[in-house]
Amino acid sequence: MSNFDELLAAVPTGLWIDGKQSDATGGRTFAVRNPATGEVLAEVADASADDALRALDSAHRVQREWAATAPRQRAEILRAAWQLVTDRAEDFALLMTLEMGKAVAESRSEVAYGAEFLRWFSEEAPRIQGRYTTAPSGNGRILVTKAPVGPCLAITPWNFPLAMGTRKIGPALAAGCTMIVKPAEDTPLTMLLLAQVFADAGLPEGVLSVLPTADAGGVSGPLLADPRLRKVTFTGSTRVGKLLIEQSAGQVLRTSMELGGNAPFVVFDDADLDAAVDGAMAAKMRNGGEACTAANRLIVANAVREEFTAKLTERIAALTVGPGYDEGTQIGPLINEKQRTSVATLVDEAVAAGARVRTGGRPLDGPGWFYEPTVLDNVPGDARIVAQEIFGPVAAITGFDTEEQAIDAANATEFGLAAYIYTRSLDRSLRVADALESGMVGVNRGVISDPAAPFGGVKQSGLGVEGGTEGIEEYLETKYVALPL
Ligand code: NAD
Repeated sequence: MSNFDELLAAVPTGLWIDGKQSDATGGRTFAVRNPATGEVLAEVADASADDALRALDSAHRVQREWAATAPRQRAEILRAAWQLVTDRAEDFALLMTLEMGKAVAESRSEVAYGAEFLRWFSEEAPRIQGRYTTAPSGNGRILVTKAPVGPCLAITPWNFPLAMGTRKIGPALAAGCTMIVKPAEDTPLTMLLLAQVFADAGLPEGVLSVLPTADAGGVSGPLLADPRLRKVTFTGSTRVGKLLIEQSAGQVLRTSMELGGNAPFVVFDDADLDAAVDGAMAAKMRNGGEACTAANRLIVANAVREEFTAKLTERIAALTVGPGYDEGTQIGPLINEKQRTSVATLVDEAVAAGARVRTGGRPLDGPGWFYEPTVLDNVPGDARIVAQEIFGPVAAITGFDTEEQAIDAANATEFGLAAYIYTRSLDRSLRVADALESGMVGVNRGVISDPAAPFGGVKQSGLGVEGGTEGIEEYLETKYVALPL
């Protein structure tokens, strides 16, 4: 553990307010644990409502000045932060693996992906544009300008501790907004290290605060009720997203919601089956299945279902499970005991209802929250495992006969984040992509997220998009100035 101890000793564990660490009110702390062992990694300051308002004082105080900085200057700070995260990629990767559990190879990919939002939005900052035109009536001129929304609150989940933060911080800072981040209680360390990196990159004090807490609602509640806050951007469960939308109504806050998913992964009988198995491995097992874009329902043409299932089962049964920091590990532990119990319950219920276990199907003994990589076939269409997110390394397979049945099954959910289709037909891929009620569709691709593309869901999967040229709009207000001719 020695290089881990050194790394942990270098990570801030206080609240990050005004460009430096500070204690929480009353010196309160909470423990952050290693999900592979259950051991305490660090005691982190536990922000209170008073601390939250202290961060908002600071964000509000510097908002106007930050909004007035030259876009090029904001771009240079974001670019410098991207460079520093990239230089310290291995620290970020190990830290994420320690607190979140994922295989370190996956943490390395997340660092590259997460850092890229900082570089991408550094490039977008100078491209914020309005428009100027003559009114069609000839009665005047129309000037449309863009202005930063103002102080924002970001609430982030534990599954991608860096990228879910940078996807919000990048566009917010590029647009000229200040931001308070409330990271997930399981994984606050990565965000605290990022705050320090931003200070090293020259970000003015007060523009970015980080408030770890074990009482999320106790921190977000007073912020959402304060008229100085102008926006909340959230990634997490649909349940909490709905609560935050309700709480945002009081101040009519702008909201961006990246919520739960229930992605269908549809394999047609004309698909390249080996490519489909590769894609399913990525879409299902990446991040140990703890991703909102994870293929939650593998919907496979009955004509090829057995062949696909056999190939997938062989690959999944061969996965190496272990602590994420062991280099050979492919599947780390789940984030905590609650999550493992939830996965185990969904599997047990499905099996009781008639699903067949092809491999796995049980929690693993010993310390840490490990669950066997699992394949379930013949899953009943009304099982809870296909109605809600599994968030674990479990592939649930159902069958279909016609394209129409596949589309109906794929859309039979209140969620609409990601969907995947495998087919060799261009016509079919475009037809089905159009018919899917989903914010994102992968065609013969198992990994679709890209900082240059808009990420977001429809139906109960969310509001708004992150990333792409579209993502910065979430942090901008549109103003119309009427001018004489
Ligand atoms: P969660 O909703 O419980 O927690 C997410 C964040 O909300 C955490 O920071 C948590 O502390 C905070 N939170 C919890 N209760 C709160 C409250 N009452 N008030 C304010 N904040 C509160 O979800 P989770 O278990 O951390 O993450 C898993 C969920 O996130 C899954 O449903 C997954 O699909 C979703 N997710 C979505 C995306 C996306 O982009 N759409 C990305 C990652 C995860």
